[in-house]
Amino acid sequence: MESLFNTDENKVYSFKKNEVYTVKIEDVGTGGEGIAKLDGYILFVKDAVREDVCEVKITKAHPKFAYAKLMKIVEPSKYRVTPKCPVSVRCGGCKVMASCYEEQLRFKQNKVKSNIEKIGKVTDFEMFPIIGMDEPYHYRNKAQFPIGYDNEGNLVSGFYAGRTHVIIPNEKCYLGVPENEEILKIIKDFMEEKNIAPYDEVTLQGLIRYIMIRKAFVTGEIMVVLVINGNKIPDQDELVKRLLTVKGITSISLSINLCNTNVIMGKVMEKLYGPGYITDYIKDLQFKISPKSFFQVNPVQTEKLYAKALEYAGLTGNETVWDLYCGIGTISLFLARSAKKVFGVEIISDAIRDARKNAKLNGIENAEFFVGKSEEVLPQYYEQHGGYADVIVVDPPRKGCDVALLETIVKMKPEKVVYVSCDSATLARDIKYLSENGFELKKVQPVDMFPHSEHVETVVLIQRTNG
Ligand code: SAH
Repeated sequence: MESLFNTDENKVYSFKKNEVYTVKIEDVGTGGEGIAKLDGYILFVKDAVREDVCEVKITKAHPKFAYAKLMKIVEPSKYRVTPKCPVSVRCGGCKVMASCYEEQLRFKQNKVKSNIEKIGKVTDFEMFPIIGMDEPYHYRNKAQFPIGYDNEGNLVSGFYAGRTHVIIPNEKCYLGVPENEEILKIIKDFMEEKNIAPYDEVTLQGLIRYIMIRKAFVTGEIMVVLVINGNKIPDQDELVKRLLTVKGITSISLSINLCNTNVIMGKVMEKLYGPGYITDYIKDLQFKISPKSFFQVNPVQTEKLYAKALEYAGLTGNETVWDLYCGIGTISLFLARSAKKVFGVEIISDAIRDARKNAKLNGIENAEFFVGKSEEVLPQYYEQHGGYADVIVVDPPRKGCDVALLETIVKMKPEKVVYVSCDSATLARDIKYLSENGFELKKVQPVDMFPHSEHVETVVLIQRTNG
């Protein structure tokens, strides 16, 4: 955003709230919003598509930029399409659904490149075209639906609108699997019949908070988790019986969450049916997935992402590799097949339990897993054992790597760092740190794991330059 303002640094603008202008959208911001300029003054216009000519109204004016609301499309952009989903604008999960898929990909490619150049302060690297999907719908294997009442007192499930806690009813999400709708209907019908109230975040009353559904795309197994503000659901055996009429359900659990919190899952899990996990494959490796464990949400793109990460790791069989933020050991086990030894680190203990089981399940004996924060486990291990690594893989959440972890990586002097990232801004920040400390960014491969949203996954190869 910073560099946008450089052009007219000394200019004083007097644009005000509620003023209406007709503008042409010139670019797309990192959150998927349209960007227009009025004599150098920047307008951020949510829901506008690049090259739309539109009437906009200023909603919040700052000295150098403003937020504006899209009032009317005067001339639609050639990139504009009718979103498949009728609630895409209100729901906010699919911020760029009104752009054709090619334009979405262009926006994401550009976002990654510009973040790396502007925040990472590097320009000399190989940038590959983003890997998109052939069929960018119904790709998500997991969804978490809050349940509540609408204004008329009807039971609804869907998604929270934008950054609010208002439920936008939406059972037929174009990103999710078709079974979601069927499962939600069974649960809502059951709640109505048995007079079971949804949880109310204000009064802290009511029982059912969320329904989490995860489907294994290869095996077809489906897990349903009912997150409840209580210890049991009245007549829960009957609910289980009804849910089992849905093809594929092999695991039904309760997650007990009695806290006044935004965290979805509670601490205690209780099995109502099945083993408490589902099993899926990525390529030829098999994985057990527990409710609280992270598993990549787009199985089709995960294969492509992992293939790139493995290619960048460039293993020959003799290497010692660390896989930080390893989840249930998915990347770790692929690495282990081509390395001497792999160490995985992950903060969620259930995920590490899964990772150890998964190693056994696949007959892999050269992978060892630790529970804890990467930024604590690796520095401690290094202090105590003088840890050595040829390759370090990191796959952190959006906030990126803690500086304590980056410091240790620098001290360990691996030949390569393979960084898998779901937020190119924090990726770029960490690239800057590493490139100032003896490493060099070599290759950047964006992968579209989340079509229609503003998010983009990236895998990069960083190599050590000094001795
Ligand atoms: N590499 C895995 C998981 C990536 S998602 C895969 O591809 O499936 C990021 C993971 O980091 C999650 O499992 C999350 O629980 C974990 N995590 C978050 N903060 C962490 C930290 N500080 N240290 C270690 N793991 C962390």
